[in-house]
Amino acid sequence: MKITEHIANRRGKTLFSFELLPPLKGENFEGISQAIDPLVEFNPVAVDVTYHREEIVYRERPDGLIEKRTIRKRPGTVGISAAIKFKYNIDVVPHLICGGFTREETENALIDLYFLGIDNILLVRGDNPAGEKVFRAEPGGNYYALELVKQAVNMNRGIYLEEEIINANPTNFCIGVAGYPEKHAESPNMAADIVHLKEKVDAGADYIVTQMFFDNADFFRFEKACREAGITVPIIPGIKPLSLKSQLSALPRTFSIDLPEALVREAEKCASNQQVRQLGVEWAISQSRELIRHGVPCLHFYSMGKSDNIRAIAREVF
Ligand code: FAD
Repeated sequence: MKITEHIANRRGKTLFSFELLPPLKGENFEGISQAIDPLVEFNPVAVDVTYHREEIVYRERPDGLIEKRTIRKRPGTVGISAAIKFKYNIDVVPHLICGGFTREETENALIDLYFLGIDNILLVRGDNPAGEKVFRAEPGGNYYALELVKQAVNMNRGIYLEEEIINANPTNFCIGVAGYPEKHAESPNMAADIVHLKEKVDAGADYIVTQMFFDNADFFRFEKACREAGITVPIIPGIKPLSLKSQLSALPRTFSIDLPEALVREAEKCASNQQVRQLGVEWAISQSRELIRHGVPCLHFYSMGKSDNIRAIAREVF
């Protein structure tokens, strides 16, 4: 079922979804099951599975020369999404990215998802490969998420890349895109970022999931600005419970977000990461309760593959 249908049928209830990473190459489904099993009782409407582009690595060859190679450490997004859907009978939202794909490869991935009966996709530009500061698209690939959205919307209308395919079978994907309550790192300002977000919605995106934020005021400001800009689709807040002291610097660096002073002060007092994890749970419970009172359609949790803290939050708020 589509995320938008779940939202339309929710009868005032706040829905629950969470995001997983596909296993590292060589691992099996067990880690995924361990992450999902403890959360099943809270009736998640969907599990998102992220997409990871290839990384550039430099290896010394036996002859001493340095060789540049690309490796994809977490392949399998499509396969894992299908495995989750069939094992748990839960809707899945595989992410697809621009980076690393030609438009034809994107089309083929969407055809696989269509044949697997997957109803939802989340379309993003994709992170830069590790060690690269500037985003690089494949030759013949999409650059902005907007182009990816347009491609998927075309397929929903039966328009594929090959011009000789006339009256192709239309796909029927519900399309999610990313939004940034503290603006995207590369955007000159929030207004410009929202202009580009609206372009994705006008092109046919059905809903928005936000980047993590730790101060609900940022979400409320963002949501208001989106509505004032004429964006009417559902906006789903993304929540990440703080879980390690090192994240006090890693999260702002990686995701271009601010951490509230009060949270940082409390985290710095923690004597162990176990205490930080507990603090992160309490902070996320309080964020979630306020967002539910505000009337958000769904709370989306960034689990990073570990679900004990998400479970502790879900027990309190759902
Ligand atoms: P875009 O919408 O393309 O925007 C990128 C930047 O370009 C923004 O600053 C935007 O304002 C600007 N822009 C857009 N259009 C134009 C234009 N026409 N002219 C000038 N500027 C423009 N990354 C992964 O690698 N895999 C994942 O699975 C993944 N999942 C994510 C899920 C969520 C909910 C979120 C919030 C992020 C996710 N990311 C993922 C990270 C995401 O790929 C990065 O944040 C990326 O840098 C931007 O993606 P986007 O889709 O928002 O890009």
